[in-house]
This record gives sequence, C-alpha cells and structure tokens, in this order.
Amino acid sequence: MYGKRPTTILTDQDHTMAAALSVVLPEIFHGLCTFHIRRNFMKRLGNHYKENSDFPYMFGACMYEIEEVEQFNRLWETMFFRHFNRAVDDKRHNELIAEYEMRQKLPIVGLRQTPMLVHVAETYSPTVFVAFQNKYGESTTMVILRQQNVGIFVEFTVIRYDGGSERIVVFNRNDLNVRCSCKKYENEGILCEYALKVFDTVGIKTIPPKYVKRRWTKRARVGDCFDR
Ligand SMILES: [Zn+2]
Repeated sequence: MYGKRPTTILTDQDHTMAAALSVVLPEIFHGLCTFHIRRNFMKRLGNHYKENSDFPYMFGACMYEIEEVEQFNRLWETMFFRHFNRAVDDKRHNELIAEYEMRQKLPIVGLRQTPMLVHVAETYSPTVFVAFQNKYGESTTMVILRQQNVGIFVEFTVIRYDGGSERIVVFNRNDLNVRCSCKKYENEGILCEYALKVFDTVGIKTIPPKYVKRRWTKRARVGDCFDR
C-alpha cells in the first residue's frame, strides 16, 4: 500500500488467514474484527438481551471500554462463570419441573387438598415442595403425648405413633413462634414433622410468613440465597 507495509490488520476469526498472516507479515498486529465478534455474540447469546441480564453490558464493556488486560480478564471471567452457572441452573430448573409434574401425579390426592399443602405448593419451589410434602405426611403420624402450659408458652411432647424419640416442641401463644428440640428448622429452614403436628393441633393451617424462608420460595433467584 503506497510502498508501505500495514501495521495492523483486522480479520474475522478465520484460522487460515491467521496462519497465513503470521508467515507473510509476522511483525503485523493481527486483531479480530469487532463487528464479527459482536455478530457471533448476538447469534449465540442474543437471548440475554431479551431477559434483561447484564451479560450484554459486560460484553460491551469488554469489547469497547476496558483497556487494561487485567481488568479485562477479571470481567471476562466473571461473565463466563455467570453464563456457566446460568446454563447449569436452567438445566436444573428443567429437571425440577419434570420432578414436580411427576410428584403431582402421585396418589397423595387426599393430602394435597389440605390448606397447608395448597399454601406451600403456591409458595415453595418444586423441590422444596416435595421435601415439605414428605414432612407434612409424616406429621400426620405424630401423636401428642403431653401438653403443658408455662405462661405464654405451651410445651408439647411429640412422638411418632409407633415409637421413636420424643421431641419437645415449645409454642409461643403470643407470636406463634415454634421451637422444636430437633432443630431441623434452624438447620434446614423447613419446619419438621413435630412442629407441623403442633401447628395443626393449635389450629394453624398455613405456614406463618416468618417460617417461609425466601431462599426456598419460587421468588428466590440465583445469588439470592440469604434470608432477610
Ligand atoms: Zn423438630
């Protein structure tokens, strides 16, 4: 070109061109054409635009704004991991839907119509619903052995109808708090069968809001794993 060699050349991601350039013009800076990169992004990951994700924003920053290599690498990595996690979540979500539909067909018909299960089916995500449904089923096999009033508290001794360990469930009549000696709620965030038995006994037919952990609900999103 006017007797001069170019210093920079931009191509599409063509491997043959890249190989040829390194032989013919080894000292040249070979870059990739941003138009083609962007077009490939739209083709493969364009769905992110529709879903309001910040993925296109991060991609744009990598392409046009960031000039430092380290900063670029950091953002690029974040972008990659986020996309990877999302792909895993989508897959998991599809599996959960399948599991949920399968469980809905199981013959627990009588139980499903109870107010608590209806409430929980509306609130919890499918897997947690299934876990809860099992606990609820077990709660119907529980028996109150003793019941004792201590001020605003009622202390229940609960046991399975066919034996097993006794649990102490303390119910607060003022704020409807319940505390079971098994500590399942504190550990897993789902009420245990003993506490559910006590709720049923005192006439509580839906789960008090404070016992619905946000991370187990349908509204929880990726990254939203901590409760208020
Ligand atoms: Zn318990």
